[in-house]
Amino acid sequence: MRTELIIGGRDIPGEGEPIDVVDPATGRTAVTIAGASEAQVDAAVAAAAATFPSWRDAAQDERSGALRAVAAELTERRDELARLLASDTGRPFARNLLYVDFAATIFHQYAELARQIAGRVVPSNETGQLSITRHVPFGVVACLIPWNYPLDLLAFKVAPALAMGNTVVVKGAEEATPSTLTIGEIVASHVPSGVAGVVAGGTRVGERLVAHPDVDMVAFTGSTAAGRAIGAVCGELVKPAHLELGGKDPALVFADVDPILAARGVVWAAMLNAGQVCTSTERAYVHRSVADRFVEAAVELTGALEVGDPMEPTTQVGPMRSEAGRAKVMRHLADAVDKGARILTGGVPVPGPGYFFEPTVVVDVNHSMDLMREETFGPVLPIMVFDDVDQAFELAADTDYGLGSSIYTRDPVLVERAFRELRVGGVWVNDPVVDNPAGLLAGIRASGNGRELGLDGLLAFTNVRHLHWQPELQAKPWWYAPEG
Ligand code: NAD
Repeated sequence: MRTELIIGGRDIPGEGEPIDVVDPATGRTAVTIAGASEAQVDAAVAAAAATFPSWRDAAQDERSGALRAVAAELTERRDELARLLASDTGRPFARNLLYVDFAATIFHQYAELARQIAGRVVPSNETGQLSITRHVPFGVVACLIPWNYPLDLLAFKVAPALAMGNTVVVKGAEEATPSTLTIGEIVASHVPSGVAGVVAGGTRVGERLVAHPDVDMVAFTGSTAAGRAIGAVCGELVKPAHLELGGKDPALVFADVDPILAARGVVWAAMLNAGQVCTSTERAYVHRSVADRFVEAAVELTGALEVGDPMEPTTQVGPMRSEAGRAKVMRHLADAVDKGARILTGGVPVPGPGYFFEPTVVVDVNHSMDLMREETFGPVLPIMVFDDVDQAFELAADTDYGLGSSIYTRDPVLVERAFRELRVGGVWVNDPVVDNPAGLLAGIRASGNGRELGLDGLLAFTNVRHLHWQPELQAKPWWYAPEG
């Protein structure tokens, strides 16, 4: 297993605080890796800053070629990476294979897209002049990644950032240190020394990166609490910060769909990755006319889910990532039950080692409960019944978050209303929690301000500069004239 950081293109053991990486399936320390010292963070930034001008000025073919080589290596090493992701995240191996493929697609996509995008020639003030706006890289981008998608969320940042001529310093979450170091090494091995640095550590290492004067932009995915802290620091420093934060995504199930089929979609969206996806369905609202059948199907499906070792081919739901995450789920459930909720299946930790939690369905919930307001980030599906469309939309909107939402209907009027009215970054209709590489992953309000995937996700890693060019030097009537 890789344990070295990458600083200035060289493999260097960490000299900072040790990171105990706990295997979520056993609760035991799998490996201890030394994180980066402050001096090592500074050295990685210095190397990225030093190589920025030459990477910025490299031919697009060179940058795109590097991205394609990264994609090819990800594909070659997909089994190894999927295993690493299983032990770092607890997510089943088979699912991780798809995520490796998706990350390779992202590197390929940005290799090509960056070849098409430079800027625009815009109408000039006067005939004979040329006005051009051009997308230019920021410089050094600090990429801060959460534990739940160490590979794909790295790809969403690093691929577009490098494609457009930025250099990067990556820091994964402590929990995912082994996979981040390996993936970072794959990226770094295909670009010139210093262009991609990889450090490891927790909040303190992240804080050092964010505040570093030579870091020109911060791309962060993680919790809303951490995003607020990072946004505050960047605001003070007038440094651009892209923040992809937490969510409390609703699912609206209307009366015109098969409730049993809809239950399959909703349960999948709630239990995928043991509910630890930023866009997990965290609350479902179901029309009264189909609610009984929906709840019955959801309970049956949830109760039958195979919970277990992420490396077992039959496992559908792995462990939660941490004891703290599991404790939060239990706190939300206890608060909900205190206030009148009923747990129909699950609701308890799986006995034995590791951080497993029984997939859970809860009814009789309301918005006074933490379970319906705070991000739970666990395998829990709370279901609330609604009577009319207006009420459904009001309930969905009753949150500070604005990441995603899914609706289940065949009615185009409801789709149009959801797309217009819900204050979120994305709406899924009848097909929840799928990413389209050409589409968009974005949050608004307490879910942040980030833009990832697609063209928007490429341009997010650029500034825009204007060139106003008059080929001939000619006096203007408004210039000061010489005396006499
Ligand atoms: P986290 O906020 O604890 O940590 C994320 C990363 O930021 C880690 O690398 C961490 O070390 C670093 N960090 C934390 N505080 C920092 C600070 N003050 N300064 C600098 N760096 C800091 O998140 P997590 O527990 O790893 O991930 C789960 C959270 O991420 C959930 O809230 C989830 O919704 C969110 N998430 C959002 C998206 C999205 O696209 N919107 C995607 C995945 C996960």
